[in-house]
Amino acid sequence: MPPTKTDFSPEKELLQDVDSDRFDSPDRDLSQAGYDSDDIMSDRSEDCGMRGQIYTNKFLNLKKIKCFGFDMDYTLCEYISPEYDQLGFDLTKSSLVKRMGYNTRVMDLQYNPRFPVRGMWFDKEFGNLLKVDQFGKILDCIHGFRKVRGEELRSLYPHKIQRKDDNRVFVMNTLFNLAETHILASIIHLFDMCDAFKQTENGWIDTENNNREISYRQLFEDVRNTIDYIHVESMELKRVTVKDLARYVKKDDRLPALLTQLKKGGRKTLLLTNSDWWYTNIIMSYLLSDYSNKGEWLEYFDLTVVDGRKPKFFTKECELKEVDLETSEVGPIRPDDLNTKKRVFSGGDHGTITKMLGVDEPEILYCGDHLYGDVIKCRKECEWRTLLVVPELDHEVNVSMESETLIQELHKLENILSKDAQQFVQLRETLMSCVSKLDKGYGQSGSLFRAGSRLTYFGSQMLIWADVYTGSVINLCNYSIDHVFRPPLMLLPHETPAQGSLQSQISIDAQ
Ligand code: IMP
Ligand code: MG
Repeated sequence: MPPTKTDFSPEKELLQDVDSDRFDSPDRDLSQAGYDSDDIMSDRSEDCGMRGQIYTNKFLNLKKIKCFGFDMDYTLCEYISPEYDQLGFDLTKSSLVKRMGYNTRVMDLQYNPRFPVRGMWFDKEFGNLLKVDQFGKILDCIHGFRKVRGEELRSLYPHKIQRKDDNRVFVMNTLFNLAETHILASIIHLFDMCDAFKQTENGWIDTENNNREISYRQLFEDVRNTIDYIHVESMELKRVTVKDLARYVKKDDRLPALLTQLKKGGRKTLLLTNSDWWYTNIIMSYLLSDYSNKGEWLEYFDLTVVDGRKPKFFTKECELKEVDLETSEVGPIRPDDLNTKKRVFSGGDHGTITKMLGVDEPEILYCGDHLYGDVIKCRKECEWRTLLVVPELDHEVNVSMESETLIQELHKLENILSKDAQQFVQLRETLMSCVSKLDKGYGQSGSLFRAGSRLTYFGSQMLIWADVYTGSVINLCNYSIDHVFRPPLMLLPHETPAQGSLQSQISIDAQ
């Protein structure tokens, strides 16, 4: 049952409890995570030489790669967490109050880096954050900061399934969405628990604010518009960032070294970002050259494209324009001049850019952080290879290593159950305690990649679409330019030896 409004306590971490309902066979799940939480544990990945690793899903021979393409935001430009997430959260809440007329109580909401995890789905109809697997099976459901479970969950989502319906569901795909995930949960929690807001069938009436009606869908639209606004129209997020780059952006000397190494190895380099020229120039100058020498960084790239409009870049033909470096204005291209050096292009599409680079599509490796915009759309629509940057990876690997014994125990229990489902009743308590201990390491909303023994939607999409993935693009420095990435052997359940690998357990579990 939902708690009553008198239980309202914004500080209370409502997600910390163990969700015993998750163990209704076979619908188990895990919960809890945040991503720069190295403070809470020792860095075991470093001890084991795993830090800096690139993980392989598909065979990839770097010898065959003639051009390395890079996205900028969250790829070359690593934003510092939680400072940058907190900034997004704070700017959104103040814009909701000042520009959208939301109740001033929203200003009191606080960002908690342990709460959000990327990849959740927001259900606009019921105002829930869902953690789902690749089939839309709900692994976790959160309303505000309250877990929805049992009969309540089943009545909202028959069979505990929510399909990926774009009209109803918004996927929190990028790290920019962490602030969005958190602000939605915080506002829903506030409105649910505070007496000033009267519950309606699909939202609330704000009795302190002209009885304004706010549905879950309206709240989502208002938050979404506000976030678009601070990114694009007011560009407040960018303006505040560039005023204090050291606070929000990681600077790493290995980045210029990596790009130089690639050039020395005879490879071409491409910068392809959705950001505009103004912001790209400031960020790349900070990352690659002395801040006073704006523009010098262009030397590091054979081709620079801003306003990339991914994923459209991969799906449609788009006009290629050029940025005038004197005036920063975007204008038509001089058709007689195909030289790409020290010039900045705007827009275009993958076909045009591949031709300008003078390579074949499979000879380009594009490195980006957006699972959908940089990787899935790219792999569906063209033959560029992909490297997915997952900044949460170090934290995830650390938690998994710290929890090695628990994971082994979970494997053992899953193995027993896969052979004899009848034992579920006896093993339920042990399983619950194992999973709940494992949960606590990641953060309040669990791991990005899995819930118990099941892969999340993000985890399975990454496995299918990204050729390789890693925590930071800088990790390319750790490999020779001719390195061959070979994926581990994947066994089908019937090919699995008697004691079974985790893969086989996942397949059984997902049915
Ligand atoms: P890229 O990752 O370098 O391709 O660039 C991402 C760009 O998208 C940045 O300029 C962000 O400010 C912008 N961006 C990210 N999320 C949003 C959003 O929700 N609304 C509008 N712009 C966004
Ligand atoms: Mg990006």
